[in-house]
Amino acid sequence: MRAAEQDSGVGLVDDGAQAAVEAAEEIIEEASGGDGGVFAPAWSDDRVAHLLERLTSDFVLDNTYREQHLSLTASENYPSKLVRMLGSALQGGFYEFAPPYPTEAGEWAFPDSGANASLVGKLTGIGRQLFEAATFDWRPNGGSVAEQAVLLGTCGRGDGFVHFAHKDGGHFALESLAAAAGVNTYHLPMVDRTLLIDVDRLATLCAEHPEIKLVILDQSFKLRWQPLAQIRAALPEGVFLAYDASHDGALIAGGALPQPTLLGADAVHGNTHKTIAGPQKAYIAFRDADHPRLRAVSDWVCPQMQSNSHAELIAPMYVALSEIALYGHDYARQILANAKALAHALHEEGVRVSGESFGFTETHQVHLVTGSAADALRLALGDLAHAGIRTTNIEVPGANGLHGLRLGVQAMTRRGLRETEMREVARLVAKVVLRRAEPTTVRAEVADLLQSHPLDRLAFSFDSHVESPAAARLLGEVFR
Ligand SMILES: *Cc1c(COP(=O)(O)O)cnc(C)c1O
Repeated sequence: MRAAEQDSGVGLVDDGAQAAVEAAEEIIEEASGGDGGVFAPAWSDDRVAHLLERLTSDFVLDNTYREQHLSLTASENYPSKLVRMLGSALQGGFYEFAPPYPTEAGEWAFPDSGANASLVGKLTGIGRQLFEAATFDWRPNGGSVAEQAVLLGTCGRGDGFVHFAHKDGGHFALESLAAAAGVNTYHLPMVDRTLLIDVDRLATLCAEHPEIKLVILDQSFKLRWQPLAQIRAALPEGVFLAYDASHDGALIAGGALPQPTLLGADAVHGNTHKTIAGPQKAYIAFRDADHPRLRAVSDWVCPQMQSNSHAELIAPMYVALSEIALYGHDYARQILANAKALAHALHEEGVRVSGESFGFTETHQVHLVTGSAADALRLALGDLAHAGIRTTNIEVPGANGLHGLRLGVQAMTRRGLRETEMREVARLVAKVVLRRAEPTTVRAEVADLLQSHPLDRLAFSFDSHVESPAAARLLGEVFR
C-alpha cells in the first residue's frame, strides 16, 4: 500500500503521518515545560488543559471530516451514539475467556459480579437468532482473526483449503498464514461474466485434491449472492463450508439475503462494522453446537491467537445487533435499493459499472471500472478525496485485470440518503471520475447535500431514543 502510494506520487498518507509525528513531539515538549522530560514533576493545570485542547482538535478535525464527506467506502459505517458511548462504558475492561462450548472452570476463570455473564448471554442470544446458529462466539477482535481461526481449526499441515482468489475479491488474511502452516491454497473456480462460483469445477477440484478440508467464501469485493446450497451439495462429506459475512452481515441478518447456515454452511463469521454498524469486532457462529470443529476453531480464537477479547465491546456489540434486530429488515432493503439506484444512475451518467448482465449489484457494493491501478489509486486518494468523496480503489473482479473503485452505500443509508439522493451522489461521482470537474466545486456540492443529513440522528438506529428516560438512566449508571 505504502509503496504503491509513493509510486503514484499521491503521498497523502506520508504527509499526514509526518505531521502527526511532529505534533506529538511538540505536545510532549510543551507539556513537559520545555525541559525535555515527559515525566517532569507537577504539570500545571494549564498544561493539562492544553494537552486536552490539542486532543480535542483531532476530534474537531475528524468530526468535521465525517460531517462533510460522502462516505462511500464499502467497509465502514457510522455507529449510533449508544454504541459509541457504551464502548467506553466499563470502568476498566475485565477479562472474559469463556468459550462457546461447555467447559469446567479452569485457570482462566475470573470472579464476576454476574454482569459479564449476563451481557455475554444477551449478546450471544441475539447473535444466534440473527444468524440462525446454535453458537455465537463474540470474542474474535476482527474479521481476519475469525477467518484465521476457522482455517487453523479445520486444516492442519498437508491439508488444503479453497477460497476466492484476490482478483475475484478474496480477502487477504489467509494465504500467508496457510503457507506458514503448511496448508495448500486453492482458488474457487469462477465464471467471469456472472461472477458466480463454477460449482461443477469446484466439485472436480475437491475430488482431485482429497486433502481439501475447508471451503471458505471470503469475498471482500462482492456484488452477488453465491449458490450456497449447490456448493454444499457438490462438496464431499466432511468438507467444512464457511461463509464470511463481514460485508453482508446486516443484509443476511436483516433477511434481504439468505441465511448461510440454512443452506448448508457449517459456520458464518465476520466483523461487526461494515454493513452492521457496531464496534470493530467480530463473531463466529456455528450451525450445530456439537459440531466436531467447534472446539478447535474456538480455541484458536482464544487463547491461542488472542488473550484479551475486548470485553468492553460486548455491550456496544449487543446494542448494534439489537438495532439490526429492530430495524434490520428495512435497513437491509433500503441498502439494496440504494445500491441499485446508485449503480443504475452511474451507468446512465456514462460511468463503466461492473455487472450489467445481473443488474449491477445484489449487495451494498457497486464496482466502477476506471482503468489502471495507478489511475484508480489517484482517483480515490486524489480527486475524489479532494471532492469530499471517500472511496477505495480495487482490482475489479471479472474486469480482466482492470482497476477501479469499490463503493458501498451502507453508511450513507444510515445517514438517511435514499434513492433520490443516490442519483445526486451518482452525478457528483461522475462529475469527478468522468468529467474531471474541479474537485473543490464538487466538494461544495457534497457539503450541501450532506447538510440536511446530520450525523447525530442516524436512520435505523437508537439515536432517536438517546434522550429517552430509559437511555438517560442507562447512561447515568454507566458514567456514574
Ligand atoms: C473486512 C474483511 C475482513 C477483515 O475484518 P477486520 O475486522 O478488518 O479484521 C475479513 N473478511 C472479509 C471478507 C472482509 O471483507
